[in-house]
Amino acid sequence: MAVNLTDLAAATPAVEAGEATTAGPLMPSILVVDDNAAKRIAMRAMLAPLGIDVVEVDSGREALRAVVRQTFAMILMDVRMPSLDGFETAKLIRQRSQSESTPIMFVTAFGSDELETENAYAGGAVDFIFTPVRPEILRAKVSAFVRLFLQSAELQRSVDSVTALNAALAASEVRAQAVLQNVADGIVTAGGQGLIESFNRSARLLFGYSEEDVVGQPLQLIVAPSHHDEFSESAQAKWSLLNASRIPAESTETVGCRSDGSLFPMEMDISQMQVGDETFTIACVRDISGRKAYTAALEHKALHDELTGLPNRTLFTDRLDREIAFADRAGESRAVLLIDPDKFGEMNEKLGRRKGDVLLQAVGRRLRGAMRDADTVGHIQGDSFCILASGESDVGTAAAIAWKVREVFEHPFLIAGEAIDVRATIGIALFPQDGRSAESIMRRARLAVDKAKSSGEGLAVFAVDPQDKTARRLTLLNDLRIGISRGELVLHYQPKIDLKAGQRTTGVEALVRWQHPTEGLLMPAQFMPEAERSELIEPLTKWVLNEAVRQQHLWSEAGLDLTMAVNVSARNLTQHTEMPARVAEITERWGVPPEKLVVEITENDFIDSDMANGLDMFHAMGEQLSIDDFGTGHSCLAYLQRLPIDEIKIDRSFVMSMPTNASDATIVHSTIELAHNLGLRVVAEGVEDEAALAMLVANGCDIGQGYFFCRPCPAEELTTWLADSPFGAAVKV
Ligand code: C2E
Ligand code: MG
Ligand code: MG
Repeated sequence: MAVNLTDLAAATPAVEAGEATTAGPLMPSILVVDDNAAKRIAMRAMLAPLGIDVVEVDSGREALRAVVRQTFAMILMDVRMPSLDGFETAKLIRQRSQSESTPIMFVTAFGSDELETENAYAGGAVDFIFTPVRPEILRAKVSAFVRLFLQSAELQRSVDSVTALNAALAASEVRAQAVLQNVADGIVTAGGQGLIESFNRSARLLFGYSEEDVVGQPLQLIVAPSHHDEFSESAQAKWSLLNASRIPAESTETVGCRSDGSLFPMEMDISQMQVGDETFTIACVRDISGRKAYTAALEHKALHDELTGLPNRTLFTDRLDREIAFADRAGESRAVLLIDPDKFGEMNEKLGRRKGDVLLQAVGRRLRGAMRDADTVGHIQGDSFCILASGESDVGTAAAIAWKVREVFEHPFLIAGEAIDVRATIGIALFPQDGRSAESIMRRARLAVDKAKSSGEGLAVFAVDPQDKTARRLTLLNDLRIGISRGELVLHYQPKIDLKAGQRTTGVEALVRWQHPTEGLLMPAQFMPEAERSELIEPLTKWVLNEAVRQQHLWSEAGLDLTMAVNVSARNLTQHTEMPARVAEITERWGVPPEKLVVEITENDFIDSDMANGLDMFHAMGEQLSIDDFGTGHSCLAYLQRLPIDEIKIDRSFVMSMPTNASDATIVHSTIELAHNLGLRVVAEGVEDEAALAMLVANGCDIGQGYFFCRPCPAEELTTWLADSPFGAAVKV
């Protein structure tokens, strides 16, 4: 049975074979040990068809050398050899580690003695072949051993490569772990259910969790609760995208949540990996607060003035543009104020550049502090500041802001121990009426500054025509503000006559006038509507109340016991008003009983106003409430009944015309009757003649007021009238 082993060997990659190791297929060698050269040649010839490499040696000693040099598939050894025979050689071969398992086949004469055979096995023989050697048997046996050798070599090789692979795998695992643990990014992996499976070192540092804390928890644990929905949505979207196209995930910005609940801006890349049936999620996360702060700082720098830290021209213009669009849509008016410190150039020269800068910073700080948070205070160029008022603003609102700005400059600025007085000129532009672009509005505000400078008034609103209504309004409001503080307001008093008991004066009504420095005595109609639409109504009413009660106190000291009626505007009584408290202070200050004060509110003001709270407070404190100009509004008595009121004043238009106009007479008559039914006192104002008085008395009206008795006049004049007139007041004794 001739087997060619070359094919088998060719299919087997190089195996280590002592020094003979070469690249490429290796033909196994066998060793023939025989002292007889002829027998060796014969062996070689017989083995030639197997195509294997035959190494010949002629002694046991040479055989020992050969096995050290080379690994053989098997050894064919003659038993009888001089000096070292086959058995001894075999024993020694077995002792060498390189050859301890190399099969040895002895070549011996058939029928050798039993002892010899036993020795042979003890010496490590694996098989025998008997002489005369039959070539087929030799080849069959040798090829069986060679095949075995090749197979075990192959096995060994597999074992070796598996071992090597394992070692490489272990090394790469160690490397991967080292990378995973030492990368700057936090890396969190989650299994198919979205539950965390690993949490690297950076993630632990970033979130303050240990690995045990988080393993098994949902991945969204690391995201702020407020962003859970967004996280699930975006993760879902990304995952489907990934599945569809295997595109690596883009970074998302979200908010990270640490173990202590603190939050931080976080960037996250989520990707998915399919391993067998399982899908893994890998989230790489990093804290981007530093980056964010840096970008924010850059942005802040680009949009703010370096010196004052206030919004610069770019930002101011941007906000203005946005407000223009908004105001346009809402159909509302807005205001911009340009503030130009006077003679700043001169001051800068005197102080030196550095102190000039410090002064500007101080101005900026004060301005910012004086405005509401929602207002934008900008430093747009050189020494100019500007304010964009938030919310709807007409000229009245703008004037109020301008006054606040003025107050900012009322106290000197202390720069390096030096008190510096700064004055500022203010220009106002309103939009959308004065322009629909930031540039045109700013230009107009600048024109208003120029106008304010040339007029010397220090405050102006942009107006194409100086007779423009807004310009006049601003002048009026500004003059009135100054007028209030300079004491230009005066009160005139008109008596209220009791029509029932002897027709004597029991009270007076205080009516305000303004002694204007250039325009003379102004009546309420000329300034009250503007005052009521502006914040000036507050100081004005306070002044009137105090002055009226003070006069009431003086009359009381002179023995005249009179009620004092004061007109209060609905704007004084809105939700958070301090007015009732101020009134209580005033009556207390002058020692006047609260019920001696009558608060008159015009009927029209009741419509759509939220002053019920203010009314209740007045009522609770004991003041009387009166509804003025009754009949001009649209309220019905039944509605008024629900309010805590004591008196109604029938409007003078009805009273004046009642003697000549029957329907007005009927209105007056029925109003008196209705009011009485509701338990209210009735005052008729505008009693101009005796006929009206007679009709009112006949109708049972309680109190009359009008030119017929007395025109409103200054306190001293009224004091004389009260003493001299038959309608005057009874003096207490
Ligand atoms: P009112 O409270 O109804 O005041 C009565 C007005 O009628 C007064 O006008 C008075 O001069 C006028 N009058 C009195 N008797 C007659 C008369 O017989 N014939 C005619 N034709 N008129 C008469 P005045 O002083 O011009 O005040 C107008 C309005 O201004 C007041 O109407 C009141 O609503 C308001 N007002 C006056 N002073 C104040 C104030 O201090 N605060 C507030 N919020 N409003 C005030
Ligand atoms: Mg009145
Ligand atoms: Mg009235």
